[in-house]
Amino acid sequence: HAAKRSQTGCQVYAPSMDAASQESLSLLSELRQAIDAGELRLYLQPKVDLHSQRIAGAEALVRWQHPQRGLVPPMEFIPFAEQTGFIRQLTAWMLHAAAQTWIDLKRQGLALPISVNLSTRDLMDQDLPIKIADLAAGVPPQALCLEITESAIMDDPQRALLTLEQLHALGFKLSIDDFGTGYSSLAYLKQLSVDELKIDRSFVMGMERDLDDAKIVRSTIELAHNLGLSVVAEGLETPKAWTLLQTLGCDQGQGYLLARPMPGEQFADWLRSWQPPDLGDARANTVLA
Ligand code: C2E
Ligand code: MG
Ligand code: MG
Ligand code: MG
Repeated sequence: HAAKRSQTGCQVYAPSMDAASQESLSLLSELRQAIDAGELRLYLQPKVDLHSQRIAGAEALVRWQHPQRGLVPPMEFIPFAEQTGFIRQLTAWMLHAAAQTWIDLKRQGLALPISVNLSTRDLMDQDLPIKIADLAAGVPPQALCLEITESAIMDDPQRALLTLEQLHALGFKLSIDDFGTGYSSLAYLKQLSVDELKIDRSFVMGMERDLDDAKIVRSTIELAHNLGLSVVAEGLETPKAWTLLQTLGCDQGQGYLLARPMPGEQFADWLRSWQPPDLGDARANTVLA
């Protein structure tokens, strides 16, 4: 670690430092300041129970309200935060904000489980379970769901297994995100104490016109259910997709059909005025009839 640090130190003071690394450095210091300056925002996107048509929970998604650049989407700084290790501070901020949001919603009689995304670097942190328990104090553990991508688990499956086991023992819900896009190992999936599997949106968005996507969605739902997991379809954009997913026995959906991610403070109002979409004559018997 020391070597790595001094290497970075060399780069910092090297006169030949190129524009790209200069930009990286300023991005990192900006990100550090973003937390202190209160520029991070917690957005929420609802998940619906496809059968009862009730809102079943919400996913917390970070945004950066940058003073010059406006609202910056996570894909523009999360990968960077992961590379630099800053992600741990960001995750801690999100967990705290998610807990506050849950408590605030609960006060309004709107207690719903909230999901927070974790990254590989978080899973490598031995103290993660304790930190989460601490940051989420005041929230019943079953109301907090932690989403981890397949690839984050496969980076160091032994470590991930241990961390997820501890989180499970503490009562938190666990979800595998973007399922189908990483190197899935069914051997690990079987051992993991997870509760939920989220089908990557690429398959869900493709299933109305692509038979292969539809088959992948169908098999994933079956696999999840056979392993005793509940299954969420990401990228639910059309009434037709809702109907098809319902027919295939999918438990929950999340996507633009319900709502785009919104500032956390708007969620309670959105929830109170929520009406299930009119599924009309959206026919489920499209490609998989
Ligand atoms: P994700 O965890 O898979 O989150 C779902 C992403 O899909 C969100 O993008 C959401 O806006 C988008 N989405 C939802 N419904 C639809 C839809 O119907 N159609 C389409 N085209 N997209 C939809 P977002 O908010 O830009 O986040 C992108 C990714 O960034 C997330 O993917 C997650 O991997 C990462 N991310 C976001 N917030 C955090 C965070 O707080 N911590 C960590 N570690 N990662 C985060
Ligand atoms: Mg997620
Ligand atoms: Mg996802
Ligand atoms: Mg994704």
